[in-house]
Amino acid sequence: MANGFTSFLQRSKLIHDATHLPGTPLFRADNVTVRYGDTVALDAVSFELNTGEQVAVVGPNGAGKSTLFRLMVGEIRPNSGTVTLYGSTPTDHLCVAYVPQRKAIDWRFPVTVTDVVMMGRVRKIGLFRHPGRRDRDLVRDSLERVNIAPLADKQIGELSGGQQQRVFIARALAQEAELLLLDEPLTGLDMPSQERFFNLLDAVSDSGVTTIIATHDLNLAARQFDQVMLLNTHLVAIGAPEQVLSAENLAAAYGGHLHTVGDVIIADTCCEE
Ligand code: ADP
Repeated sequence: MANGFTSFLQRSKLIHDATHLPGTPLFRADNVTVRYGDTVALDAVSFELNTGEQVAVVGPNGAGKSTLFRLMVGEIRPNSGTVTLYGSTPTDHLCVAYVPQRKAIDWRFPVTVTDVVMMGRVRKIGLFRHPGRRDRDLVRDSLERVNIAPLADKQIGELSGGQQQRVFIARALAQEAELLLLDEPLTGLDMPSQERFFNLLDAVSDSGVTTIIATHDLNLAARQFDQVMLLNTHLVAIGAPEQVLSAENLAAAYGGHLHTVGDVIIADTCCEE
């Protein structure tokens, strides 16, 4: 299993932040196909995202949601087609923060909350330099913004799921990210923690950060987001939830594995915890 901290450090190269080309969308995918060996994970996907949008990416297990995020963060490249972030290849941008699924992170890793948030500064500081005053101030402000400053010296593994989620959002804030990608951020959170999470996401979004989450929860996507992207290897639809989550589109994405009870949509095929 990948270790989230290690892979983050492995990706932390000393590179210059790419320029944002004027007039270009935040993200653009043009006829993108991604394969892992014989498996097609994304097939001829095209769409554009603009700054300030709050988007939920939904679809059954194996639909390509994580693959899409890995493309956006520059971790993988398409086999064909092109992806651009503000007009250039995503790899060179420091403005994207990615919070992987909880199961991809080794929570036993011996680091404090402050260490994790400071990792958001690593690429800007340079791996082998010491954090300066501005870095430490940004880390402290970020911890305060997500209400976990009193936990700054705790080991990350000692925190609850909701608190750990906040730590990673603080890391994105310390990084001064403009695009925040969260993969299944609600897994394992109880209802009050989910509510706190959405309040925080709204505040982050109001401060100008574009937030995108992957979720298998269609009802939550419909309730909380003004844009939904429905994936099933190909892009089924993108737009307002009431248009995207139509019976026809849902049948195209989930086949017969979906039922509705009143306004609630229930998918048989979800949900790997
Ligand atoms: P989702 O996040 O929607 O569950 P993924 O992007 O994880 O979908 O996976 C899309 C498809 O690609 C699935 O069939 C999955 O098994 C496959 N896949 C994902 N990652 C890998 C990998 N590293 N190696 C081989 N196949 C992979």
